Amino acid sequence: MRLSRYFLPVLKEAPAEAEIVSHRLMLRAGMIQQLAAGIYNWLPLGFRVLKKIEQIVREEMDRAGAIEILMPTIQPADLWIESGRYDAYGPEMLRILDRHERKMLYGPTNEENVTDIFRRHVKSYRQLPLNLYHIQWKFRDEIRPRFGVMRGREFLMKDAYSFDLDAEGARRSYDAMFVAYLRTFARMGLTAIPMQAESGPIGGNMSHEFQILAQTGESHVYYDRAFEEIDFSAADLDVDRLKSLYAATDDKHDPARCPVPAERLRAGRGIEVGHIFYFGTKYSKPMGATVTGPDGREVEVEMGSYGIGVSRLVGAIIEAYHDEHGITWPRPVAPFEVGLVNLRPDDSACAAMAEDLYRRLQAAGIEVLYDDRDERAGVKFATMDLIGLPFQVTVGPRGVKEGKVELKERRSGARSELAPESLLDRLTS
Ligand code: ATP
Ligand code: MG
Repeated sequence: MRLSRYFLPVLKEAPAEAEIVSHRLMLRAGMIQQLAAGIYNWLPLGFRVLKKIEQIVREEMDRAGAIEILMPTIQPADLWIESGRYDAYGPEMLRILDRHERKMLYGPTNEENVTDIFRRHVKSYRQLPLNLYHIQWKFRDEIRPRFGVMRGREFLMKDAYSFDLDAEGARRSYDAMFVAYLRTFARMGLTAIPMQAESGPIGGNMSHEFQILAQTGESHVYYDRAFEEIDFSAADLDVDRLKSLYAATDDKHDPARCPVPAERLRAGRGIEVGHIFYFGTKYSKPMGATVTGPDGREVEVEMGSYGIGVSRLVGAIIEAYHDEHGITWPRPVAPFEVGLVNLRPDDSACAAMAEDLYRRLQAAGIEVLYDDRDERAGVKFATMDLIGLPFQVTVGPRGVKEGKVELKERRSGARSELAPESLLDRLTS
């Protein structure tokens, strides 16, 4: 992508209302723009990151055996009246009347909707286990939308729903999601600590929140420092051990009863990026979602639900990866992998080399944002540092004479001079 033809409305100053660094940087880097309180336009740079995160979540859900569907944003109230949640949910639910005065709502979550799909099509235990998920916008009329996309009113969530014949099967489904979550966050460069949680308004009897550590997190968290030694990207994670390690948010943490000795206890602040629940027959019972069991009897299915805050993750990753100059994206979620800067578009040798490199990087399958603008070098470097692409490649008159370009790793700041061939090798290895 040529920056001269792109839409990247960077700002010099972040609007005063942006309190936390990720919100400020997302506005300054032209990633988002607020349309109404807690409702955002996703501009090209931000939208690319959102899609990368969504794709990692999708791949790990698929790998864990979940099956993707798409349920609508607007739902009829009837299903929620059936489950008993229409009145229970409260003012966070956006309630709508259609032209026939039928009660509708903008979905804050989809348990009822997916249970309805299930009960219409699944009749036998032989069709289980089943896990259906989607990645869809939600609306919750949060009392205090804040921190940009971290607590929005409209936000993108991945929500998966498991159906099993019995509690033992449901636990296996839960554990598969537990592991998938750790892998998902690890792929984005995040360490998310699973914390035992009560399940709040959704109800249930087993639940974990996944919290990443960040100073601006909304929750205070306490955890066994043993978590710091775990490689969450490992192929075989020991779920039982992970579940047995102590980790809790402050509402659950009681210093007097904490099983972890003080020298092993870590305290910090966390951002909740995922939440998983096992809630048994909470929806299958009132909504009549049953299957015929092996003995011919009708059984209410055991369910769980599993959410990931896809749009919240964009902010959460920036909270974890930034410095005083801007964002420092982990490569798997970066909007582009390489920022190519031509320092002298007016110099024909520089232009020829930059154009050639741009073509070759693209041909090698690398996503490049090419700053071909007629701008001062300082402006170009500041823009690149702000938007935080993992690699910056600079073409300037001095290097061109020697047939070299400069490579800078954004996060470490490490610089090297390379011939274009070696650069391509480095970036594709
Ligand atoms: P929170 O305690 O942060 O309000 P929740 O318990 O209401 O979260 P869930 O219903 O479990 O959240 O939703 C699943 C995930 O969706 C959460 O873990 C979070 O990452 C994300 N999420 C929830 N509410 C919002 C919001 N208002 N804005 C952005 N993401 C959200
Ligand atoms: Mg909430």
